[in-house]
Amino acid sequence: MWFGRLTIPGMTFPQTDRTKLRRLPKRGHFDRETVYGILDEGFICHVGFVSGGQPVVIPTGYARLDDKLYIHGSQASRMLKTLSGGVDACVTVTIIDGLVLARSAFHHSMNYRSVVVFGRATLIEDREEKIAALLALSEHIIRGRWNDVREPTEQELRATTVLSLPLVEASAKIRTGPPLDDEEDYALPVWAGVVPLKLEAGEPIPDPRLSAEIRVPEYARNYRRF
Ligand SMILES: Cc1cc2nc3c(=O)[nH]c(=O)nc-3n(C[C@H](O)[C@H](O)[C@H](O)COP(=O)(O)OP(=O)(O)OC[C@H]3O[C@@H](n4cnc5c(N)ncnc54)[C@H](O)[C@@H]3O)c2cc1C
Repeated sequence: MWFGRLTIPGMTFPQTDRTKLRRLPKRGHFDRETVYGILDEGFICHVGFVSGGQPVVIPTGYARLDDKLYIHGSQASRMLKTLSGGVDACVTVTIIDGLVLARSAFHHSMNYRSVVVFGRATLIEDREEKIAALLALSEHIIRGRWNDVREPTEQELRATTVLSLPLVEASAKIRTGPPLDDEEDYALPVWAGVVPLKLEAGEPIPDPRLSAEIRVPEYARNYRRF
């Protein structure tokens, strides 16, 4: 079963004191279509929060369902225990599209698409919502996998914490295109342009304990994000 991810075109995130872009605001985007497009292509976020007075940023997997971002992990995780206490969090997602090589050191840049989300997460206690979130996480990272594998047992479900973060305060920032050099530098005899970068799956490596009759599924053989 696949739970559809609803995007409402035209609906924008309000710009708040926290999400208002200060540098190069023209690269900012607040429409849900753009923000959700980036969230749906990425699958690793960095979760920032303060734990016992100490700022911490932890990388983790995520999925989006409608207007919520889901993260999960062990019940023992400090990140999940702290966040379920209702503390302020800041979550970022970054997709790198290229290295931008300018004629001067100063104007080098990167082409990227990134999102910053602020909010407070809540613990998912409802069993059905928890399973739907776990399914969404699995499908978001590798679509088709959930149907092939053993479902979580009750004990495994209890050992897993799932949190949802409402998508109400978010911004996207995007850079595309060639380098932007100072006019006088365009005459310099230096190569300039973009080195495109993308995430690419390699050849799947079978588990050494895999039975020889089991074929590589299509979603692993031809894994791609988009
Ligand atoms: C690509 C990726 C995907 C992940 N997906 C998930 C997920 O879906 N769910 C999940 O629960 N965890 C995930 N993790 C692991 C996550 O980053 C934490 O390590 C994990 O949540 C354990 O937290 P903890 O409470 O034990 O760590 P903490 O007790 O919070 O960590 C203590 C200290 O350990 C170090 N540390 C912890 N994690 C890392 C790390 N990843 N890299 C370097 N140092 C670290 C830091 O110094 C930190 O201050 C993922 C990590 C990566 C890199």
